[in-house]
Amino acid sequence: MSFYDLDFIEKTFIHYAKENTRSYEENHDQVPTSPSQVKMGKELTKHLQDIGLDAYYNEKTGFAIGHLKKNVSDEVTPIGFFSHIDTADFNAENIRPQVHRNYDGKRVVLDEKEGIYLDPKDFPALASCKGETLITSDGHTLLGTDDKAGIVGILSMLKYLTEHPEIEHGDIYIGFGPDEEIGYGGRRFDANDFPNVELAYTLENGRPGDFEYETFNATEAQIHIRGTVVHPGEAYGLMVNAATLMNDFLDRLPKDEVPEKSKGYDGFILVLNATGSVDHADISLIIRDFDWNKFTAKEQLIKDIVAELNKKYSDRFSLKMRRQYENIYNVIKDQPYVVNLALDAYKKLGIKQNIQTFRGGTDGNFITQKGIPTPNLFNGGGNYHGRYEYATVEQIDKLAEVLTEIVKEHLYQTRNGRDEAPLKKYW
Ligand SMILES: [Zn+2]
Repeated sequence: MSFYDLDFIEKTFIHYAKENTRSYEENHDQVPTSPSQVKMGKELTKHLQDIGLDAYYNEKTGFAIGHLKKNVSDEVTPIGFFSHIDTADFNAENIRPQVHRNYDGKRVVLDEKEGIYLDPKDFPALASCKGETLITSDGHTLLGTDDKAGIVGILSMLKYLTEHPEIEHGDIYIGFGPDEEIGYGGRRFDANDFPNVELAYTLENGRPGDFEYETFNATEAQIHIRGTVVHPGEAYGLMVNAATLMNDFLDRLPKDEVPEKSKGYDGFILVLNATGSVDHADISLIIRDFDWNKFTAKEQLIKDIVAELNKKYSDRFSLKMRRQYENIYNVIKDQPYVVNLALDAYKKLGIKQNIQTFRGGTDGNFITQKGIPTPNLFNGGGNYHGRYEYATVEQIDKLAEVLTEIVKEHLYQTRNGRDEAPLKKYW
């Protein structure tokens, strides 16, 4: 049984999926980082206007912003939804979506000649898509489920609400932003575009029932080491080899707190790059942890190692450390309503909740830090960021239903009392 118009979802998803909206880290001084994102941002603005929203494209941030006005006289705080226009760092040229109607649950041929298959043996989650309208790429590009499925879920919800004016709702704000995949979209979002919005959701990956309100805390660090070059034949007591000092630093890092030995709630320190010569050496690393105390302890460890080595080698090390984002739980733990509201909506729809930790960060991290607590729902599909990416029309439909239910539930709880139950702590 479908909630909304499956034909609209299929056509709209394929339409936007075909647009190459890849973001480019190397263009990070441009907003957005690719012209195709401007094009789609403006197209989405028009789409929002056509549905009946007040909408505009913010040239400074690259966000398409929409506002669906409330149709009740109640004092109800505005609610926001975000999804992103850009796609991940993978080939996005000539995306040719393939529709597999009434998917039989078996191996899907993406490119017979080149032997590219989407196989439930490799991706067991595919089994749950049996009987649905499965959409894949042709095996040579990504599909862009992340996050065009989120965009289409939002458009479907808006269309449903405007076609059913009897459904009461408060003010709804929409943000379709660029450059999420490279960490710039949410950082540039202007909260003035979401006046008085009290709570919002991102629609990042996962399937119906998934929910995330814990993400990493994140810091990056650059360490520069100065050496002293002298002729090797006359180096005794004079040469300081920066590469040797670099190795001393690397040796002191914890051996087990690395991504390849971490899962669940574990944090890590990852050396992204270390290059050294006699003259100088550079190390770049990132720190990730859910737990604030463990996170700041890791930051302190790096500072301590640098201090220790500066003592040992008379000030050859310099350190630049920068916080990238903070766990949204740090804020959301004191504002449980935003979580409970979504979980109550799942319950009303009979969707089994699956609360997960997100071993990364999203636009929600930056938006939460700007004062709007923003946990993550889902967008449907799977295998994000690569040639095996897929979506199903039915799961996007489920997303539209969930978004509509959240809007209804928010008004209901505004009238009848909010669910402020404290959040379960997972660590
Ligand atoms: Zn995404």
